Amino acid sequence: MKPVIDSLLHLSSFRVFRVFRRPPFQQGLVPCLTLLGLLFTMAGSAEEKAMPVVSRATWDPDGGESDVAKMKKHGKPIFSIVLHHTQTPNEPAAMERARLRGIRRFHREDKGWGEIAYHYFVGAEGTLYAGRDPGHAGDSGTRYDLEGRLLVCVLGDFMERLPSETTRAVLVDFVVERLREHGLKPDAVTTHQMVAATDCPGTALQEWFKSEGKAAIERAYAE
Ligand SMILES: [Zn+2]
Repeated sequence: MKPVIDSLLHLSSFRVFRVFRRPPFQQGLVPCLTLLGLLFTMAGSAEEKAMPVVSRATWDPDGGESDVAKMKKHGKPIFSIVLHHTQTPNEPAAMERARLRGIRRFHREDKGWGEIAYHYFVGAEGTLYAGRDPGHAGDSGTRYDLEGRLLVCVLGDFMERLPSETTRAVLVDFVVERLREHGLKPDAVTTHQMVAATDCPGTALQEWFKSEGKAAIERAYAE
């Protein structure tokens, strides 16, 4: 049996060798690769592309790693998404990376947390930023159980005004993407003041969530 296998192996390697020695246009390689490329392109466009998120290392390249010892892994699967605002001045998108670095420094150095408290941020022009690794529970100055909760925070102060239309649209789409990622339904989305004693995410944003945001999330989820 072995000599047969050996001769087959020789034969096949010889064939491979012969095939690759010949110019590609003679072997139909070019049309084959073109067709493969086309199929991959079609498969790619048929799939939903994940929304782009600016990594923490990009907005804070000198900030170092999270202090894992100071954080807790979720003790249960993600069951809820909680919306917040940073309640910092409403400022142009160009200032957001510096603002995030400031918040991160405050959370780590002043609060003594292992990482910036929130898992994701949405900026004034709808830019998405990664915060704490979603595998770790967030932190809060208020009292509520953070395990199994994904914290999504809008940059700015929304006590009296709303985030831009773009920011709200991105927030809705991003929340729906996270719901799907974790196998959740739209009723899993809540706001900070619905689970703890606080006025976060601001009166205006809270009102929007109740009147329009929830419905927009349900519509986008159903699409
Ligand atoms: Zn909050």
